[in-house]
Amino acid sequence: MKIIMLGAPGAGKGTQAKMIADKYQIPHISTGDIFRANIKNGTELGKEAKKYMDAGQLVPDELTVKLLLDRVANEDCKNGYVLDGFPRTIPQAEVLENALTKLGEKVDYAIDVDVPDENIIRRMSGRRACVACGATYHIVYNPTKEEGICDRCGAALILRDDDKPETVIKRLDVYHAQTQPLIDFYSSRNVLRSVDGTQDLMKVFEDIVAILDASEA
Ligand code: ADP
Ligand code: AMP
Repeated sequence: MKIIMLGAPGAGKGTQAKMIADKYQIPHISTGDIFRANIKNGTELGKEAKKYMDAGQLVPDELTVKLLLDRVANEDCKNGYVLDGFPRTIPQAEVLENALTKLGEKVDYAIDVDVPDENIIRRMSGRRACVACGATYHIVYNPTKEEGICDRCGAALILRDDDKPETVIKRLDVYHAQTQPLIDFYSSRNVLRSVDGTQDLMKVFEDIVAILDASEA
């Protein structure tokens, strides 16, 4: 099963993608996590990507597309995957579609996690991230057992540089201009499904599971 998570920054794509990956035993692939790992390791790609990320902009397609296509060509992706944060532009979606078409494959579901802009800034300022394992928490809505420490791996949590309110506002503008058109793109392919992302995160997950399991019935 090949699943794409759509939605504004902070809508809950990563939170849901991790739960989907666990339940359906498919890899969770987050281009944001891949960039952050590169930044942490001081690679050339990381240095280049950081300039755009800190400014709330998208990393150029030339740097992003090959990285993603290489990743989904890995052996662990043969039974599917859940993409979180890719595609973010129509050209990215077209490249993915062309690559899959050549293999006789397609995206099965594009799940739009719908959350209005008013809710996003509150979510982002409370988000805490683990750079070691990629887990994401919220100080109010999804707290860790011990404050500031990742439940999964025990590393210290951070507030992401790009989660500052002024950068979040820029990221929302970029989302509306460049990423939201993907909703129509996937709707025209008949694979779009929307869930109300303002609900409790377990209820959002239930709605997603109902969509995914309906296809297997
Ligand atoms: P995205 O991957 O779309 O940027 P995240 O999954 O990182 O978003 O979620 C953004 C923040 O909102 C995180 O702090 C997360 O714990 C919190 N969050 C996710 N889903 C919900 C929800 N349904 N209700 C409240 N907070 C949520
Ligand atoms: P995320 O972790 O998905 O919120 O992504 C954090 C940042 O990484 C984004 O604001 C972009 O700067 C960059 N990024 C992640 N995925 C992509 C993508 N598919 N295309 C362009 N930039 C991306």
